[in-house]
Formats: sequence, C-alpha cells, structure tokens
Amino acid sequence: MNALADKIAIVTGASSGIGRATALLFAREGARLVVTARRQSELDRLLAEIEQAGGEAVSVAGDVKDEALAKKLVDTAVDRFGGLDVAFNNAGSNGAMGPVPEVSLAGWRDTLDTNLTSAFLGAKYQVPAMVERGGGSIIFTSSFVGHTVGFPGMGAYAASKAGLVGLMQVLAVEFGARGVRANAILPGGTDTPMFAANQPGAAPGTRSFVEGLHALKRIASPEEIARSVLHLASDASSFTTGAALLVDGGVSINRT
Ligand code: NAP
Repeated sequence: MNALADKIAIVTGASSGIGRATALLFAREGARLVVTARRQSELDRLLAEIEQAGGEAVSVAGDVKDEALAKKLVDTAVDRFGGLDVAFNNAGSNGAMGPVPEVSLAGWRDTLDTNLTSAFLGAKYQVPAMVERGGGSIIFTSSFVGHTVGFPGMGAYAASKAGLVGLMQVLAVEFGARGVRANAILPGGTDTPMFAANQPGAAPGTRSFVEGLHALKRIASPEEIARSVLHLASDASSFTTGAALLVDGGVSINRT
C-alpha cells in the first residue's frame, strides 16, 4: 500500500531542490498534488514528470508572500481533488546575507516574509481545510541554522527558520485535538541550488568545508530529505506532532 494513497497534498517550493524531490516522492506514494513556486516553466516540467509516472498533479504559480496564493492553493485542492490532508510549506531562500549590522531593514523584512510569513499564510488556510476533513499533517521546512547552530552572515535566515519552529509548536497544540499534526523538518546541508557551494561565485573549497562540518562528512541529496518529509506526512508518524526533526547528517552535534 502506498504511504499517501488517497491523500491530497500541497507542496510549496516545488520547482527545485527539496520541494521538487518531495513532490515526486509524494506522487509516487499515491498523493494527488497541488504544487507551487514562481517559475511556471519548472512546474510544467515537474507536472510532466509526475504524469509520465502515472501520478496526478496541478500547478498554481505564484509568490508565497502573497496571501491570495495561499488561499488559491487550498481552494484548488478542495475544488479539484475534494479536500486537503497534507501541506508541505517548504519554499524559502537564504535572503539577506551579511553581518547583522549590515542587513537592511528591507532585506530583513523580505527574508522574514519569504520564509516565515509565507508559512503563517499557508497554515491560515490549510488548517481549516484539514479540520474540515477530520485531520491532516502540516510540515514546515526549518533548518539547523537558527536551531542548533549560529552561522555567521545568516541572521535574517536564522530568525525566520527559528520562527517556523515556534509557529509549528503553537499549531500542534491549537489543533491536535482536531486531528491536525504539525511538525518541522530541519535539514542539514543539502545539494540544491540554494546550497552555498552551488551559488555563483562560491569560494573554492566551500563544498568540502561544509561537508566536513557534518558527522557523516557529506551533505544530503534532496531525495534523502524528501523521505523524512514523507514520514511526517504519512500515518507512519501518526503520534508525532510538535517535533522539530533534525535530518542533518549530524551537523548539529559534530565537533570533529
Ligand atoms: P532551492 O532548490 O533553491 O528551492 C527553493 C524553492 O523555493 C524553489 O522551488 C523556489 O521556487 C521556491 N521559492 C523561493 N522563494 C519563493 C517565493 N518568494 N515564492 C514562491 N516560491 C519561492 O532550495 P532548497 O534547498 O530545496 O530549499 C528548500 C527549503 O529548504 C528552503 O526553505 C530552505 O531554507 C530549506 N533548507 C535548505 C537547506 C540546504 O542546504 N539546501 C538546508 C536547510 C534548509 P521559484 O524560484 O520557482 O519561486
């Protein structure tokens, strides 16, 4: 039996990296999907791949900072597929980088809006739809940065990712009695376009330096993170709520 048979899911940040890998895995595990990101061309490519593999998905392109998008995603899940069981609020960016005194207020606000306010907007519309169905699973992509590790130059990012854990814990207690579980996944370094060593102009040696920070001495593939998201989305984690789940290759505890 597929882990997400008969489930309906929203995945944000589905055009790339962790979100894309998770959308493909969710579809393979039987979920019907509403996927979103800003780049329609990448969503089209994802939809073609899902359909080719026998899955079912629809895309709604937009910016996660936009409240109208948050509502439209849920409306689409309900109108097209009949409800909502799972939401993976994953879209995010590194945002304004640099020592805190050098971060502009505009950059700070944009980072918080993209990574944290977007998740609040998502939950605001997703949770009532899940309650309507008698429960569901909502998952946020946080990070070890801002939870177990202070990374220089990432003040706005760290604050946004720590904020997600607080939001998730409150949702877990507000809606647990109505069957809605809320959890966060905290990936370690993951091989996506966002990863420092994959940024244009990255200093030579960045990849091996970051790999060395992890106990496993490597970074994750997006598919490895997706498998842990699937666990939180599916009934395999039916007694897990309010958890900040480190899937970080030991970067949080490594001292070697
Ligand atoms: P990625 O490949 O760059 O994917 C980021 C995704 O977010 C893309 O699909 C992007 O789509 C979407 N996105 C960004 N800003 C958006 C906006 N304003 N509106 C709508 N969509 C937006 O990076 P990733 O590593 O998979 O990142 C996914 C999540 O994992 C992020 O929240 C990130 O903070 C977190 N994370 C990553 C790592 C890592 O090492 N890679 C570690 C810990 C946590 P469009 O550009 O098409 O809009």
